[in-house]
Amino acid sequence: MRSISILGATGSIGASTLDLIRRDRGRWQVTALTANGNIAELARLAREFSAQVAVTADEARLPELREALAGSGIEAAAGVDALVEAAARPADLTIAAIVGCAGLAPTMAAIERGGTIGLANKEALVSAGDVMLGAVARSGATLLPVDSEHNAIFQCLAGNDSAHVRMITLTASGGPFRDWPQERLVTATPAQAVRHPNWNMGAKISVDSATMFNKGLELIEAWHLFQVGLDRLRILVHPQSIVHSMVEYRDGSTLAQLGPSDMRVPLASVLAWPERMDTPCDPLDLAAIGELSFRMPDEARFPATRLARQAAEAGGAMPAVLNAANEVAVAAFLAGQIGFTRIAAHVEDVLSRYAPPAPDCLADVVAVDAEARHRALALMEPA
Ligand code: NDP
Repeated sequence: MRSISILGATGSIGASTLDLIRRDRGRWQVTALTANGNIAELARLAREFSAQVAVTADEARLPELREALAGSGIEAAAGVDALVEAAARPADLTIAAIVGCAGLAPTMAAIERGGTIGLANKEALVSAGDVMLGAVARSGATLLPVDSEHNAIFQCLAGNDSAHVRMITLTASGGPFRDWPQERLVTATPAQAVRHPNWNMGAKISVDSATMFNKGLELIEAWHLFQVGLDRLRILVHPQSIVHSMVEYRDGSTLAQLGPSDMRVPLASVLAWPERMDTPCDPLDLAAIGELSFRMPDEARFPATRLARQAAEAGGAMPAVLNAANEVAVAAFLAGQIGFTRIAAHVEDVLSRYAPPAPDCLADVVAVDAEARHRALALMEPA
């Protein structure tokens, strides 16, 4: 039996994780499940998996959660402190799958107790960067990447010395607007942006995928996780999303990880690590797929990867500013307040006006994130 906590249990990554656990029920004991507003689903999952505790981030919803769990013996809790407390409870594995920087404090709590963390919540690592890696080093925590690209790289690096790496290539589907000309991008709607051609994901990451901010955040994530330097990280558009990433070594060998576009594959590798486990995913049928193609990203139409690289080069607090500005811009786009191409323009604007000192601790990161959000919102208001 292994114990597991899932931060962001009601989301897309949470559902994929629980689907795998459901198929191997006897092996897992669920400690904590967390959510934000989807109380009914949180309570349903907590009952199904006999969780020890269910937590909503929204304090006002505690009575509703208590009522939904009445008679189950499952603890109900609410608020950010309760999320952190739940994440700090001992568990053999914690899946960090809250969307956005809201996941930072609970992810840090799981890291600080020295646990093994399956990290999906890339925004937390992008924002906290060295502060998070410092906590990992101090506590002896293990970070296992869930993101399909980083999970692929992790697998391709296994058993090799990263000193021999010549180049790491992150692949990108290019999103739903990959082939759209600039004048059409201006008209892109939220409904079109969340309809990803290959992956079924939450709304925020779907928009990030359409703008290519997802790949920009992933570039920064890879920079922190694999420590090979920005000059040895590149992005290639690969529309089929079959090759999830590649590592080229100094002898000219390139190792790639291939698989179906289904997050249960990287999640299974994290759940079973360092072993392997079965998944219900169809095996890859390369003859049916026929062709795999690759091309350079177009940073004129999709400036997000350029902005992310610049933020990483500037270092310090700039990735946290980029992430916060993007979260605000994506929320405004999804609410119909700004157009699609304004997302990157807005992030660039915020980056050019706010350059705080590098954060030293979690409180500093949280303060930079809050101030960057405040400025991003203020800049959106009509003059
Ligand atoms: P979803 O939007 O589907 O789910 C987000 C989860 O976070 C939900 O459980 C949601 O609760 C919870 N949540 C939202 N806001 C808050 C908050 N303020 N405080 C606490 N919890 C909150 O997202 P995804 O599952 O798609 O993505 C989760 C993370 O994984 C993201 O960082 C994403 O970039 C990353 N990721 C996702 C992939 C995917 O395929 N989906 C692939 C690779 C990485 P509720 O449902 O109650 O709102």
